[in-house]
Amino acid sequence: MSTKLQGLRGMNDLLPDEAERWEAFEAIVRDWLKSYGYRPIRTPILEPTALFSRGVGEHTDIVEKEMYSFEDRLSEEKMTLRPEGTASCVRSVIEHSLLFAQPQRLYYSGPMFRHERPQKGRYRQFNQVGVEALGFAGPDIDAEHIVMCRRLWDDLGLEDIELQLNSLGDASERARHRGELIAYLEKYQDSLDEDGKRRLYTNPLRVLDSKNPAMQEIADGAPKLTAYLGEESLRHFEAVQDLLREAAVPYRINPRLVRGLDYYNRTVFEWTTTRLGAQATFCAGGRYDSLIAQLGGREAPACGFAMGMERVMMLWLEGQEVNGPLETPDIYLVHQGEAAQKFAFRLAEQIRSAGFSVVFHCGGGNFKSQMKKANSSGATYAVIVGDNEANSGVAAVKPLREEGEQVSLVPEALTEWLAERLYGVEAD
Ligand code: ATP
Ligand code: MG
Repeated sequence: MSTKLQGLRGMNDLLPDEAERWEAFEAIVRDWLKSYGYRPIRTPILEPTALFSRGVGEHTDIVEKEMYSFEDRLSEEKMTLRPEGTASCVRSVIEHSLLFAQPQRLYYSGPMFRHERPQKGRYRQFNQVGVEALGFAGPDIDAEHIVMCRRLWDDLGLEDIELQLNSLGDASERARHRGELIAYLEKYQDSLDEDGKRRLYTNPLRVLDSKNPAMQEIADGAPKLTAYLGEESLRHFEAVQDLLREAAVPYRINPRLVRGLDYYNRTVFEWTTTRLGAQATFCAGGRYDSLIAQLGGREAPACGFAMGMERVMMLWLEGQEVNGPLETPDIYLVHQGEAAQKFAFRLAEQIRSAGFSVVFHCGGGNFKSQMKKANSSGATYAVIVGDNEANSGVAAVKPLREEGEQVSLVPEALTEWLAERLYGVEAD
């Protein structure tokens, strides 16, 4: 026997019990996105590496150490497994001139790849649902994104969550703050950790949101970006907060919240929880008014967010029964005999055409052993066909989940009988 192969570290399989719950979650999410008028966009999982180094920023965790990048053997093109979705979405919108006629409300959903140390809530392949509103300048869209998040968390019944909010101002405001921040951090140069020392001159803002408690203490005394905001940025920030108060969405302003990707300006936000240990943030986003131009498009404002599906799923499923199937068939079809098998095979298709789910028994065995399988399938009814039934063109149906007599019916009567019981529909 050859050695057993295993999947890659940090890249997980979703077995049927879990995958069904993912599908249920995805269905809820899709309805939620539609109720706000967002439309899907699907982009490739591989992109040119330059998209992320330019889009996400050279001096970010993602680009410095987390990307899966390689060179195409023939073309020598440099490519990267997407670590996030915004850059791809913007690339596609520019490439296909989607912003030409009107602003766009878009969403995507799918796997992202980052080379990180795997732990609970942190994987190397993980999934995000992302929402992007492109071509909108006003604070109402920032607020719409936050309010729509809140609705989803409420629908899912998430508890112990908090909304953190900040404004990063515009490039010139950040530049003025940057000088002061560097001067402040230089005073602590010897106490900065490795990341802090490295970022002091390349990306000092990022030192502020370090997860290292010693760095947090230094960050607490640092000059606050909000003190450098000009009139327009302040007005935008105030307007977002007004709308949140209007919608009764509680929030906390966190002046240390800067986000790990370089493209943000003005509004940034994170949804955090106390229930996932170190992986506290399960959804994050903000405004990125310069990214579209930075990636070669005509300048246009934009705003968006992404949630980590694994983390949201963990919060949602907490306290729920997560073993066993979520979906069970309406019918398990048992049959014995040659004529019976042919009749049953046709009957299964007829029942499916009427809108019911049918598991057709495969693999032979006597009625008793087939009925055992029918029971453990979770089906609501067993439909039973022997050669006698087949010869008279009828099938027997027997309730498996409740008391009830077995009845024999012709196919048309059988589907009507099922409709009445499963959907409460009376036949005309
Ligand atoms: P973290 O600080 O936890 O590393 P991040 O700031 O790198 O998160 P973003 O790039 O903002 O994360 O991505 C948005 C969301 O995607 C996160 O809030 C999180 O829920 C999820 N996410 C990010 N990285 C991972 C990962 N490696 N595994 C699982 N989920 C992740
Ligand atoms: Mg990260």
